[in-house]
Amino acid sequence: MKRLAGKTALVTGSSRGIGRATALRLAREGATVAVHYADNADAAKATLAAIEEEGGRAFLVRAELGVPGDVDTLFQGLTAGLREATGKEELNILVNNAGVMGGVKPEDLTPEIFDQLIAVNAKAPLFLTQRVLSIMPDGGRIINIGTGLLRYANPDEVAYSMSKGALDQISLHFARLLGPRNITVNTVSPGITNNGSPIFDVPEAREFMANMNAFKRIAEPEDVGDVVAFLASDDARWITGTFVDASGGTLLG
Ligand code: NDP
Repeated sequence: MKRLAGKTALVTGSSRGIGRATALRLAREGATVAVHYADNADAAKATLAAIEEEGGRAFLVRAELGVPGDVDTLFQGLTAGLREATGKEELNILVNNAGVMGGVKPEDLTPEIFDQLIAVNAKAPLFLTQRVLSIMPDGGRIINIGTGLLRYANPDEVAYSMSKGALDQISLHFARLLGPRNITVNTVSPGITNNGSPIFDVPEAREFMANMNAFKRIAEPEDVGDVVAFLASDDARWITGTFVDASGGTLLG
């Protein structure tokens, strides 16, 4: 029996990177997965095809986050897809993964960049969580993808880290609120993880990034997706409100 047989999951930003690996792993465990994306329909379709090739079940949901009406659009696509795929509107697992990085130094930060980071990385997950609770049965799982930068100062990413700090607060608050319903809420915090960006093809950059963690290799999206799958499983029922360091020991210094 697969660990997530009969369950449904939404992984935001699962067209690429960590979200994609997470969606694939949850589907492999038997969950029916809503593959969410913003613009990159080809990548989202590739995730869907990869799941179906392995005999899994999934459907696509398009919604740009960080714009007015974002959560409404996502929720409508999600419930329509759930009805079609399973005959009911029930979501067991929410993975708030979609995110944007800032990449600007504090002195170059503008209010517009700051607002966008907060809107995508914190506001959208907060209101999406609020919304899906109406269709999440007891025993559900909410996993927020944070960052090792919650515990590590990087001068280029102060606003990004602030937005992820807000996301971590969402985990803490909802973990306490939803404990009586046996819904767990946790933050999984990756370190630098190969998401296919061109920087991962530069040998010097690869060596530098690999040397930041304890294992001396670049993390692959599956390294994080597997941690999320564990937290989504019944085996993790007694873990809630935690910051799960999935940085390969980067925070050890
Ligand atoms: P990628 O950049 O590879 O992919 C981002 C995903 O999010 C895509 O599916 C993209 O959709 C979606 N997305 C981006 N912006 C929006 C938006 N405004 N609305 C809706 N969807 C959006 O992501 P990573 O795998 O690198 O990162 C995943 C998560 O992990 C993020 O929250 C990130 O902050 C966090 N993280 C990543 C690290 C890393 O080194 N990779 C390190 C620490 C944390 P589309 O394809 O349609 O554009």
